[in-house]
Amino acid sequence: MIASLLQRSLNGELLSRAELAALLAADTPEEMAELRAAAYEVKRRTVGTRVYLRGLIELSNRCTRDCLYCGIRRSNREVERFELSLEEITAAAALAADFGYGSVVLQSGERRDTKFTDFIARAVEAVRALPGIVGLTLSCGEQSSEVYRRWRNAGATRYLLRIESSNPELFSAIHPPNIDYHARVEALYRLRECDFQVGTGVMIGLPDQSCDDLAGDIEFFRKLDIDMIGMGPWLPHHAAPLRDRGPETPERARRRLELSLRMIAATRLQLRDVNIASTTALQAIDQEHGRELGLLFGANVVMPNTGGVEHRKDYTLYDNKPSLDENAVETRDALERSIGAVGETIAYHQDGTPLHYLKRKHPSAEAN
Ligand code: SAM
Repeated sequence: MIASLLQRSLNGELLSRAELAALLAADTPEEMAELRAAAYEVKRRTVGTRVYLRGLIELSNRCTRDCLYCGIRRSNREVERFELSLEEITAAAALAADFGYGSVVLQSGERRDTKFTDFIARAVEAVRALPGIVGLTLSCGEQSSEVYRRWRNAGATRYLLRIESSNPELFSAIHPPNIDYHARVEALYRLRECDFQVGTGVMIGLPDQSCDDLAGDIEFFRKLDIDMIGMGPWLPHHAAPLRDRGPETPERARRRLELSLRMIAATRLQLRDVNIASTTALQAIDQEHGRELGLLFGANVVMPNTGGVEHRKDYTLYDNKPSLDENAVETRDALERSIGAVGETIAYHQDGTPLHYLKRKHPSAEAN
């Protein structure tokens, strides 16, 4: 059924929204295998099979937002709030540099007070000054143009801000009324204006989300000319109010994982030269193989946690967060094994700028 769609995509044709939705709904083992093979072939031809690493540093779980799905939402009183010091952040980044990761992501809850925005600027400068760090991504939520510009000038090169769902109704259903869909879209445009490499993404398998919604998300990524995609299954959190209809079962989680893999594959087929992360949320459902499956379905970036383990349990966005007590060295060793096991190699000491961005900046660019 999907073979002709895949062949057309392999020939370089863009698929329609309905055709993307058909790929996302194709859930038999045979269809999954066909989709995976086609997406992997497009990945091999466009971005290659080297995996770029970004050391993830979760620097604070203080958050002013109350997103209905998130474990560190403001009104969750169960979590102990923390902020890493500048020294702790630079130590974690130095470790990432020692490991040859080349690039780090500083992520936090969302705050807009100047104490926080100044601190992030200082953290960016401190990390930038370290030898061996070539790429620096921020993921600190919606901010003004001034703040984005300041952080960009301090030395951040990439920014991740998920749209969570590009369907405005679904976006409203998973956020409180003070979080506005259009403001989120505008923030993505502002990031582009500030010359960030822009990343976005969605949660997959949300209550009432359809394959047509997800196909619309892929069209949204294309319309905004996005460079990097980070997306994974939505996973319930016991202290967050968003719930699926009916009880959470292993079977339901497995279906969300499979849908996420199809979403990665369909995104690779349609967008070709972007960076796509194989996210930790995939691993939360399949601890053993989640990360590798993401790579096999078309992802080319992994974000190993490089912060200490002390605060990790307090940065729990969803239940069953994997590797809660795995230190950075164990994570690196596990990564080596799992990436090698699928026949791919790690691109150590590389910045890993998305080919999509390079082509926009320098239209003759072929590879990074
Ligand atoms: N505050 C920043 C922001 O909102 O962009 C960065 C941190 S935020 C916790 C990072 C991402 O975690 C969100 O964009 C969301 O997609 C994801 N996330 C939060 N709760 C989740 C859940 N229950 N299941 C899956 N992903 C979740």
